[in-house]
Amino acid sequence: MAASLVFRLHDRGPEVVREVLLERGWEEYDEEEGEEEDWNLYWRGSAFHNSEYHNLLPWQRLNHHPKTLGITRKDCLARNLRRMRATFGSSLYDFSPTVFILPNDFTRFLAEYNRLRPTREPPVYWICKPVDLSRGRGIFIFEDIKDLVYDCNIIVQRYISNPLLISGYKFDLRIYVCVKSFHPLTVYIHQEGLVRFATEKYNLSSLQNLYAHLTNTSINKFGPFYKMEKERVGQGCKWTMSKFRHFLHSQDINELLLWQKINNIITLTLLTIAPSVPSCPNCVELFGFDILIDVKFKPWLLEVNYSPALTLDCQADITVKKGLISDLIDLMNYTSVDSLREKAYQKHKYKQPCFYANQPSHVPVPVLSKFKETKCQKKASGIQVSPPQALPLLKTLRQSEKMNPRQSRQHAFVADYRRHLPPVDLNKIYAARGRKTNATVTKTYTDKTLNLILGPHSRTNVPVVNRQTCPTLAPWLMDNRSLHVSEVTNHDDTETEAELQLSGETDVSSKIPDIRQSGLGFRHSAVSLKLPNIYSGSQRPVRTPLKGTTALNEQHIPPLRVGDFIRTFPFNTATLKASQHELDVKSVIQELHKLTGWLASGQSEKTRWRRVEEELKKDMKGEEDFDSLFWGPKDPPLLSQCFKPT
Ligand code: ADP
Repeated sequence: MAASLVFRLHDRGPEVVREVLLERGWEEYDEEEGEEEDWNLYWRGSAFHNSEYHNLLPWQRLNHHPKTLGITRKDCLARNLRRMRATFGSSLYDFSPTVFILPNDFTRFLAEYNRLRPTREPPVYWICKPVDLSRGRGIFIFEDIKDLVYDCNIIVQRYISNPLLISGYKFDLRIYVCVKSFHPLTVYIHQEGLVRFATEKYNLSSLQNLYAHLTNTSINKFGPFYKMEKERVGQGCKWTMSKFRHFLHSQDINELLLWQKINNIITLTLLTIAPSVPSCPNCVELFGFDILIDVKFKPWLLEVNYSPALTLDCQADITVKKGLISDLIDLMNYTSVDSLREKAYQKHKYKQPCFYANQPSHVPVPVLSKFKETKCQKKASGIQVSPPQALPLLKTLRQSEKMNPRQSRQHAFVADYRRHLPPVDLNKIYAARGRKTNATVTKTYTDKTLNLILGPHSRTNVPVVNRQTCPTLAPWLMDNRSLHVSEVTNHDDTETEAELQLSGETDVSSKIPDIRQSGLGFRHSAVSLKLPNIYSGSQRPVRTPLKGTTALNEQHIPPLRVGDFIRTFPFNTATLKASQHELDVKSVIQELHKLTGWLASGQSEKTRWRRVEEELKKDMKGEEDFDSLFWGPKDPPLLSQCFKPT
């Protein structure tokens, strides 16, 4: 019987993640009993250690990319945005309130404070936030510098004192953003999100009243009015984004422009760190972007959350967060059974060792990571190996390779996995390409092809055999062209090696240089084995990429939409190209400019919507090779339908 997918939650993890995964038939990892590597998804609220990234196995995924602190810590975000402003202009990066990092920037803050002081009409307010705290902890608002007292590293930010109010209540938007990959940059924004309200009416004459000025649920749920029915807002302090859309419709504004500006903020913020995040395709990240809208409908970025709260406090939470996690799992593209993990354990049972090291062939060295049965094995076999038999062999391997236990297991896994990869029959390849070879050459993959990291667009990713990845095949390879071998393990455990097909598709990930970071040394992901298509959901199937989104000039295009996640980057051919090799930030910015400029100019909202509707009704014949959906509005239209010149 096939083993279930296994999730591992750090510190008992968010309940909603557990709930969603159990509903989908996953099993929870048992910290006491579980085999160290026997899990598919490790979910942590806090950061992973470098070693955890180094030691990832092909079937394992983490819910954080490394090195994203650059936007998730308040002072780092401030610094990065300042740098981008200096490079690309303050008019583009004008979406975050003026900010100072104290104590370092104290003199600069003082100068700005004094500059604004004489003209304080309307008055200028500031908000002070500890750099590394969240949930509203340690925050206060002040007008007079004598009220600024602090004993830790803080940021002082210009307080947006004219927020858009709903029936007198301040609110902000929590937008969920999934970065599926940083190399190439691939971003999805969820259609559902949360609107978080303050629970007392906004009033600038009571700056100390946090229930009126802060929108954090962690604060407002302790407020005296939390449970009361509040005008228009209702009970509690949250709306779903869908409810907010209804509100927006009642306002006479260019709704599309607002969504596009928020979308721009998200992309421009991610661009600040994208080039410096190491490539780690087995990772995915769910960020929570906090956006405040002012009375002029200008959106402001307040902060980016590393581990957005997943607690279920009210009905809006349940609706939004359950769907969100479910869609995130779909986006990770798991199949019901993880054949990679299963193969690694089950094939050998304990008759053979789970792993072999690169030892001389006459000395098969079993390397058993632990001597417990794995979940797969429990189901698949009753055969066991006794620890005393295996221990000396394991010791020998570690000593001879001078490896730590974990390295030796991994190393052994690579060697072992290689044995199970299909041979590359060059005759077949050349037949497919219309060329002949007189020799019958059969090669197996080399270690280099065994990059154990998932390709960034796992759905249609294909490992590539080329000069770089298989130097031994170089004499048979023409020019710089690559031979592409379709996924080793896609779909489910019914797949056999005989199903491996030769394909002409290009593996985008093969062209992406791994960004190495000093001290990190991530594995080179020049070639990625595609992780199994381990989608396990029966209720929410992944929507297959729409026609025309799978290939453009042989480049892979990630799906337009997965559940309620809308792909927002790359959003057109130019941004796809700009993100394939080294991220071309300048080109991306130009494209964003164009898009926003088009929306900001010309037609009234009503005319625009009528046209969008008309276009949607037309048949899809004119659809371009690469199209994107417009994130934000209800029933998101295609970009091509919104932006065709009249
Ligand atoms: P935390 O990480 O502690 O939640 P935030 O930066 O998100 O810190 O701030 C908490 C809340 O304070 C926000 O949700 C928002 O309501 C309010 N807030 C933060 N910064 C500003 C600002 N510059 N202008 C107006 N309100 C702000």
